[in-house]
Amino acid sequence: MEIRKVLLTEEEMPRQWYNILADIKMNPPLGPDGNPVGPDDLSPIFPMNLIEQEVSTERWIDIPEEVLGVLNIWRPAPLVRALSLEKALDTPARIYYKNEGLSPPGSHKPNTAVPQAYYNKIFGIKRLTTETGAGQWGSALSFACSQYGLECKVFMVRISFDQKPYRKSLMATWGANCVPSPSMETKAGRDILEKYPDTPGSLGIAISEAIEAAVADESGQTRYSLGSVLNHVMLHQTIIGLEAKKQMEKIGEYPDIVIGCAGGGSNFAGLAYPYVCDKINGKEIAIYPVEPTACPTLTRATFAYDHGDSAKYTPLLPMHSLGHTFVPAPIHAGGLRYHGMAPTVSQLAAEGIIEPRSVNQLAAYEAGVLTARSEGIVPAPETNHALACVVEEAKKAKEEGKEKVILFNFSGHGLIDLGAYDKYFSDELKDYALSDEEKACFETCFENHPKPQVLTSC
Ligand SMILES: *Cc1c(COP(=O)(O)O)cnc(C)c1O
Repeated sequence: MEIRKVLLTEEEMPRQWYNILADIKMNPPLGPDGNPVGPDDLSPIFPMNLIEQEVSTERWIDIPEEVLGVLNIWRPAPLVRALSLEKALDTPARIYYKNEGLSPPGSHKPNTAVPQAYYNKIFGIKRLTTETGAGQWGSALSFACSQYGLECKVFMVRISFDQKPYRKSLMATWGANCVPSPSMETKAGRDILEKYPDTPGSLGIAISEAIEAAVADESGQTRYSLGSVLNHVMLHQTIIGLEAKKQMEKIGEYPDIVIGCAGGGSNFAGLAYPYVCDKINGKEIAIYPVEPTACPTLTRATFAYDHGDSAKYTPLLPMHSLGHTFVPAPIHAGGLRYHGMAPTVSQLAAEGIIEPRSVNQLAAYEAGVLTARSEGIVPAPETNHALACVVEEAKKAKEEGKEKVILFNFSGHGLIDLGAYDKYFSDELKDYALSDEEKACFETCFENHPKPQVLTSC
């Protein structure tokens, strides 16, 4: 029997997160007046303890005991050798993945939902608001809030609210209140509904609603929570890569290639940043974030200053952006349909330290089905994008006759996304590519903003 899984004990779980801000230079977020925003500007939206993490440049940040004591419901996550996928591809490459699909909501997202709920709780906050696309983030935050006794209100993008009932059921089971967005509960929602009564909604709109609902609570006991993009989210997700490093060390392996799908950038960053640190310090390693061709933020969008939401409530963030007014094609990887990208991921791409890739929806499902029929595990539509890149690299290794070591993030399982697989099998899914005309049209919304610089970190 060949060894398939490398496990860590709970005692071996990392006790600190790795902060990439210690090792790279960043453009600051800007306020409406064009000046950098300070911690106080963010205090109506986030609790100060999380704002401190957002701006910290300490390389290592302790994970609180009370957070470890919830993360260990499913962590440490196994490192799995994809032996059966290797056989199916007849590749000399050795393929490993971190299985983040074993958390209660089924993805990597509770790695940050849990600490975010905890820090809000100890800051005295009683209620969190958030947005969700396909429902993965909403269910992760609902789970985390239930662990710490917080109320949770979720604005869910309308089209997913109508099409994906089971994530709503999960949120309800964990005690959260989920409403379709745009809603009549906020000015941002009412303004959109007045202009476009039949809009399918977007993440940008739902974020505006969730921020507005948090800031509007005059008791001061509500804050907003974001599931990707921000520095503190990337920080919390590094537990994935830190565990992976320990696990690979145990078997004497080190990856040549690290791969993660990228929506807002957090599961990719979580696996990749500890390796980015090695790369900055001279290691030779290829690091690929993978996005859909329908929402090509890193591969085609401009590195710009843009808002994170449609109503422009957020500061201007230095990131690759398709424009805060962007409404993506209806691909089934709901978690990969955001117009922007984490500023740290954007900065690393602009510097050439990581090399973005894009894949089509059908290639993604083909790789997902191959994985289900070899490894057995059914991947989330988002994860399929990482898998399409893994398959490409494994085939390349075969052509070149090289024993490459490929490590990727299995960001979540697809058991609540089976409707999308049904559509794939009945040929109802198609490839989408954003046309240059459409792209140019959305870009006009940030053309008057200041421009971030490409800094060099190493
Ligand atoms: C949300 C989600 C993603 C994309 O979000 P990132 O912040 O880019 O990681 C990827 N995979 C799964 C399973 C998701 O739920």
